[in-house]
Amino acid sequence: MIQFNRQNLFGKEFEYIKDAYENGKISGDGKYTELCNHFMEKRFDAKKVMLTTSGTHALDLAAILVGIQPGDEVIMPSYTFVSTANAFLLRGAKPVFCDIRKDNLNMDETKIEELITEKTKAIVPVHYAGVACDMDKITKIAKKNDLTVIEDAAQGVNAKYKDKYLGTIGDIGCYSFHETKNYSMGEGGAIVVNDEEMIERAEIIREKGTNRKKFFRGEIDKYTWVEMGSSYLPSEINAAVLWNQLEHMDEIQKKRKNIFEMYYGGLKVLGDERKLRLPIINDFAESNFHMFYILLNSEKERNEMISYLKKNDVQAVFHYIPLHLSEFYKRNFKRIYLPVTEDLSSQIVRLPMFFNLSKKNVSFIVKSIKIKINE
Ligand SMILES: *Cc1c(COP(=O)(O)O)cnc(C)c1O
Repeated sequence: MIQFNRQNLFGKEFEYIKDAYENGKISGDGKYTELCNHFMEKRFDAKKVMLTTSGTHALDLAAILVGIQPGDEVIMPSYTFVSTANAFLLRGAKPVFCDIRKDNLNMDETKIEELITEKTKAIVPVHYAGVACDMDKITKIAKKNDLTVIEDAAQGVNAKYKDKYLGTIGDIGCYSFHETKNYSMGEGGAIVVNDEEMIERAEIIREKGTNRKKFFRGEIDKYTWVEMGSSYLPSEINAAVLWNQLEHMDEIQKKRKNIFEMYYGGLKVLGDERKLRLPIINDFAESNFHMFYILLNSEKERNEMISYLKKNDVQAVFHYIPLHLSEFYKRNFKRIYLPVTEDLSSQIVRLPMFFNLSKKNVSFIVKSIKIKINE
């Protein structure tokens, strides 16, 4: 079976974990968390990066940080993971869903303004598959309407919009290091705080609502409860694993790029014949090659392709059930129509993509798709 996703070790993980034990610190914010945070701050030119227990928790922290209140509205795509919406729902806000663009499956920035009301507080662009949303346009709309921008860059670590890294463009960015993402620590994530004024509060909320960070830096002589917060610090054991992955960041990206290009090159002829559609990377985007997907011409063709690949021992998968069509949303909100989201989400197939996927297996997958399409 060619699995959809697989983990790999780079070889120093256990050494780093052992080192964390020997340093006598396996709880959060030790040596390895700091190494990861500083590496990303430097590499992505970000003001503040802090590891979190997950991408989901980075979003939860962001929602608390920007002061989302009951009754607020937050604009986001429906074609996303549930965590994008849950973070704001948990604070009592309503997710307002925006349709997506046909080319990159990202939020359609031309449809944002019509969704803005007096209750709107924030816009949450999701950089699907590691391909950037049109951030200049989104930032402009946000400025004009005095809204906060929280980038869900869970899939966008080390990808760019023009010359900026994803996650560093909005007021806040959220990364995921879940095992399915490009760089993994099992479960984990990070919050990127780009608004200087939010940094201190982000530290506090992440540390159970205490000013413990200031205390450890020696800036105050005792620490106390100063805000509402929770515990969003991952263990040093997880951070040690991530550190070994980040040390191999370029190598990981290069490998994924090669796989992406092999798929693309192999399937291009089918794309040209319009038998399927290949992913589009806009000129403003530099992808991190998080995903390789194809779009079939109908839901039926899509489902048949997945079954065919499964019979050939290839695990290919569809992706999000749009959130506005979910059981939870239907139970709580009025039916809305997002035609592009509804169409494209029913046509997508994601193909295996991971560091150790062999060229031989990519060739086999390409060949299988060609046989199925031309049968
Ligand atoms: C993976 C993902 C998340 C959640 O990240 P976790 O680390 O799994 O909690 C949120 N949003 C998007 C778009 C994701 O792909």
